Amino acid sequence: MAMRRCFVGSGQANTSVFSLSFSSILPTFHYKRTRPRERRCTTHAICHATKSKEELLVVVGGGAAGVYGAIHAKTVAPHLSVVVIEKGKPLSKVKVSGGGRCNVTNGHCVDNMILAENYPRGHKELRGSFFNIHGPVDTMSWFASHGVELKVEDDGRVFPVSNSSSSIIDCLNSEVKQRGVSLQTRKTVAAISILSSGKFLLEIQQHTSVHVERVEADYLLIASGSSRQGYTLASQLGHSIVDPVPSLFTFKIEDLRLRELSGVTFPKVKVRLKLDSVQRNIPKLTQVGPMLVTHWGLSGPAILRLSAWGARFLFSSSYKGQLFVDFIPDLHVENLKSVLSHHKLQYAGLSGDVLWASISNSSLMSIGSVLKNCIFEVTGKGQFKDEFVTAGGVPLSEISLNTMESKVCTRLFFAGEILNVDGVTGGFNFQNAWSGGFIAGTTIGRLALGSCLGLK
Ligand SMILES: Cc1cc2nc3c(=O)[nH]c(=O)nc-3n(C[C@H](O)[C@H](O)[C@H](O)COP(=O)(O)OP(=O)(O)OC[C@H]3O[C@@H](n4cnc5c(N)ncnc54)[C@H](O)[C@@H]3O)c2cc1C
Repeated sequence: MAMRRCFVGSGQANTSVFSLSFSSILPTFHYKRTRPRERRCTTHAICHATKSKEELLVVVGGGAAGVYGAIHAKTVAPHLSVVVIEKGKPLSKVKVSGGGRCNVTNGHCVDNMILAENYPRGHKELRGSFFNIHGPVDTMSWFASHGVELKVEDDGRVFPVSNSSSSIIDCLNSEVKQRGVSLQTRKTVAAISILSSGKFLLEIQQHTSVHVERVEADYLLIASGSSRQGYTLASQLGHSIVDPVPSLFTFKIEDLRLRELSGVTFPKVKVRLKLDSVQRNIPKLTQVGPMLVTHWGLSGPAILRLSAWGARFLFSSSYKGQLFVDFIPDLHVENLKSVLSHHKLQYAGLSGDVLWASISNSSLMSIGSVLKNCIFEVTGKGQFKDEFVTAGGVPLSEISLNTMESKVCTRLFFAGEILNVDGVTGGFNFQNAWSGGFIAGTTIGRLALGSCLGLK
């Protein structure tokens, strides 16, 4: 399917959509982004689709990827019945994200090659079409054109101007309603099989009764995040699963030297991790950035990034190793020694600073070593889920990244954290969800439109 990016005038300026794949054979046909007729959002939407012979898309999971995907499928194909099944509360991670502010995406990576480098799992595969089709700029313009004012902070993180994740949730919920997506909560997709007709047969467990709904869907988008159940559903449909392990976590360090520094932030340190492991081929695990001392150890962007790049190796090492911290990475050790000596000479003779002035040269050298190469024993993984994600899931080799369709099973799509993609802290994980959701949703919408016009 050849995809080409275009802008359509529908009163929502700067919102990118795809031109329809069959536009070349039907030059007079133009998809117009007008508001679709309001569809009644009832729990009977599935039944309605079946009876009316309308095609049905079922989205498993009402998180960022699922809801964004559903909205975009419905935007492209307003006639398509779209049902999102959510076992808990929709968009619950969006709500708590970014400390309640929701770090929507990252505004500093305009080059998609550099953007991809922020994904410890996915950095090679995501260099291609993925972010070209729908990257951070597209995400920002979509939210902006749907009434959410955004701001880019100095470090590139993008937040709603309101500083509240509710702005993002309200925007998505309003689009769900306006487009006529049926969002059904407190229901779990328990099993999926493929019928001889090629349709998907879903078993949906209602939380309020023992009743199991059986639903036939034409298209399926699995966007179940890091839920075990989602991995099982993907396996049932023939996919393999890369073992899930935690990523983006803090380090547990019990060290008296840190106790009094709890709450202190170092704006720029260089950290290097050496793991207690017999594993071979462990890459060099080094990061530079801000570090925060907590009452259980160390946190902050430099540590979180280290945990992401080392996620698998840390898991295999039972989260044990040595952390080498350089508190002044911009100063060479020799320069530091001369700075310290110079300081000592300056203070010599001043009565209030006798202690500092009389410090021995060897003690000065020890201070220098501590500042340049302070060693801490990492004894475990912090429990505080600041921005916790899962590495592992459906391998990217089993997905076409320009459509998000499974290479194993036609009309099956994936988006978001269920895939073996995870980013470092800074808005990159939501960007994966928005990009995947958009690509899957628009692809499904185009297929449904083609099918409606008998162009299958
Ligand atoms: C505390 C916290 C803060 C975060 N902050 C940020 C941030 O500021 N910026 C950022 O980029 N990333 C952040 N992240 C990461 C980000 O939240 C995730 O990467 C993102 O939510 C993934 O979106 P998703 O739609 O793929 O999965 P999810 O958001 O996890 O959604 C999946 C949904 O599927 C549902 N589901 C699962 N299985 C089934 C089933 N069988 N039937 C029905 N429903 C099912 C789940 O209940 C869930 O609602 C944060 C994560 C956490 C935990």
